[in-house]
Amino acid sequence: MTANDSKAAILMIYTGGTIGMKADPVDQTLKPFNFDQILEEVPELGKFTCKIDSYTFDPLIDSSDVEPSLWVALAELIRDRYGDYDGFVVLHGTDTMSFSASALSFMLEDLAKPVVFTGSQLPIGTLRTDGKENLISAVEIASAKGPDGRAVVPEVCIFFDALLLRGNRTTKVNAEGFHAFQSGNFPPLAEAGIQIRYNTAFIRRPPVPDAPLRIHTALDTRVSILKIHPGITPQVVRNILCGPQTRAVILETYGSGNALTKDWFLDIVREAAAMDKILLNVTQCLTGSVNMDLYATGRHLKDAGVLSGLDLTTESALAKLFFLMGTTPDNVRVRQELQKDLRGEISA
Ligand code: ASP
Repeated sequence: MTANDSKAAILMIYTGGTIGMKADPVDQTLKPFNFDQILEEVPELGKFTCKIDSYTFDPLIDSSDVEPSLWVALAELIRDRYGDYDGFVVLHGTDTMSFSASALSFMLEDLAKPVVFTGSQLPIGTLRTDGKENLISAVEIASAKGPDGRAVVPEVCIFFDALLLRGNRTTKVNAEGFHAFQSGNFPPLAEAGIQIRYNTAFIRRPPVPDAPLRIHTALDTRVSILKIHPGITPQVVRNILCGPQTRAVILETYGSGNALTKDWFLDIVREAAAMDKILLNVTQCLTGSVNMDLYATGRHLKDAGVLSGLDLTTESALAKLFFLMGTTPDNVRVRQELQKDLRGEISA
């Protein structure tokens, strides 16, 4: 396995985020700055034998401002430059990195090259930054090829704090610590120590080798998320589940997919199902899966027409719905596809 093939070429795509931010001299808040300054801060990148080109989005954003239009722009950029590069590194804010990585995993079909998202908790210009390490390892992973000349990790993933995680399995779990991301239901694809150790058995390969990359940019965003909590009221539940603008609702439930069994609640769920809303159950827990057959509280939901999201993260559930609903107006089809493992996002 050659960690950085001298012939490899990487496109580093800068979208914004803390990694490239600097304190505004007027109000001291962190704001994105110029990409060239990032390169100045990491002269180590010059030691790579692979070629590294860069592309900077305009405007640069704090990832709290990410919209699906950015995902479309990213997918189109990767498609347009796909033939010129062996891998892509996406510098992105941590706040919504799991949403973006999940979305790209569905939008890029038959991906055969690495798309590695990374960022940092401290700006790259600060002394104790985690950005340098994250960036350098992300480039190494994006350029890694096996003895057959193919990419070692042909997946959309996140590299952060020494771990390479499948993007659509991740959640941001820490607002301060360097260990910011967790993949509660799937093992790391690689761990970076003295060497980068790839967990080859868990790395997903394109189902059809040599199939050309296809991108999906039609996203239907008519999705709401209802987080179940003690004290939730009929008004709130009805507004979210039966809202006229909503085609699908993700129910974030307790434990293995449980929610209250009060008649008013189940009546509203049935009402939404009768309106042909797509209702998807994911757990609020970071690890484990929905199993609506385990408790009566889950079985009621299943009987009322709610689908199991199995071990999908909320981020991935949202991205999968945007993607599937963008491919067809047929809700029956969307419900069927939701149950399938499309990009390694569920343990089906
Ligand atoms: N607010 C920042 C962002 O998501 C946080 C970060 O990058 O860590 O863009």
